[in-house]
Amino acid sequence: MTTDFVVVGGGIGGAVLAELLGRGGKQVVVLERSSAPPPGVRPEILWPRTMEVLFSLGPREVWELEAVLPLRGVEFHDGRRIVPLITADLLRDAGVQPFSTNPNQTRESLLRLGSFELRRGVEAIAILKEKGRIAGVRIRDTATREEGEIEAHYTVGDDGTQSLVRKACGIDMQTREFPMDFVCFECAWPAAVPAATARFWLNAERRTSGIAGLAIVPLPNARGAGLVPLLSRVFDATPSAEASWSRFCAADPTVREVIRDRRLPHDFVRVRRTEGRAHS
Ligand SMILES: Cc1cc2nc3c(=O)[nH]c(=O)nc-3n(C[C@H](O)[C@H](O)[C@H](O)COP(=O)(O)OP(=O)(O)OC[C@H]3O[C@@H](n4cnc5c(N)ncnc54)[C@H](O)[C@@H]3O)c2cc1C
Repeated sequence: MTTDFVVVGGGIGGAVLAELLGRGGKQVVVLERSSAPPPGVRPEILWPRTMEVLFSLGPREVWELEAVLPLRGVEFHDGRRIVPLITADLLRDAGVQPFSTNPNQTRESLLRLGSFELRRGVEAIAILKEKGRIAGVRIRDTATREEGEIEAHYTVGDDGTQSLVRKACGIDMQTREFPMDFVCFECAWPAAVPAATARFWLNAERRTSGIAGLAIVPLPNARGAGLVPLLSRVFDATPSAEASWSRFCAADPTVREVIRDRRLPHDFVRVRRTEGRAHS
């Protein structure tokens, strides 16, 4: 087929661009390799510029039903007391309103907007070139392995850190590993933590255990997204990490309420940044 734009990757960047181009009258095809949203939730904070774009694409009330929640502040528990790290007054004085979100939900809402054609479970495997210019992509259905081609006037790469499109354009990017893994989970919002306020508990044994602590970030409908930042070695030294984790949970009743009987690390969804990130 031939189209105006083929966007490789249905992340937040690709989906927003495709929607704006579609609303501008362009014919757009989005290729997204994953056939379904990733399992589980992870926390994400979105800043005012991002929210302006999201609210320009759909009414704020609709986004707030399921996907985003205005954040009132951030608290920090240092093992002895709660320190208000970012207060509602501070945010108001700075004129900044961050929103917390479950990114999987936000991406799904964007992919459903509908001003473009979404091809799910389809990946770009090579670039088509014509007279030295990129003229589309070779594609493969991830389930059937069937291959085909999409010719496009413009080919957009929003296909992540190791972008096939970027590499085909000859643009090099050095990356380095992010030093920590995150394990994530969804929880009911605990009564002891103020609504719409993120909380981080620091682990006193973080240096020896490799487990930094626990963060919970509020989501709509009295839910929360939890995150435990930890060193990868925790996955290999499970028994000692488990003992340290148990002591950390036992020290605070709210942590116990949030974690319940989940065992670290295997009862959590591991969110890795294995592909690395750019130096700058
Ligand atoms: C643990 C974690 C926490 C984060 N926290 C925050 C935060 O709090 N606030 C914030 O603003 N940002 C945060 N980020 C960063 C944010 O998630 C990214 O900046 C953003 O998702 C990048 O969006 P993107 O659309 O450019 O690319 P991506 O989200 O990387 O999307 C790329 C898409 O392309 C698809 N794809 C890849 N290759 C192909 C191919 N060959 N063919 C078809 N599809 C392909 C992938 O499946 C993926 O869906 C966080 C990231 C991580 C990993």
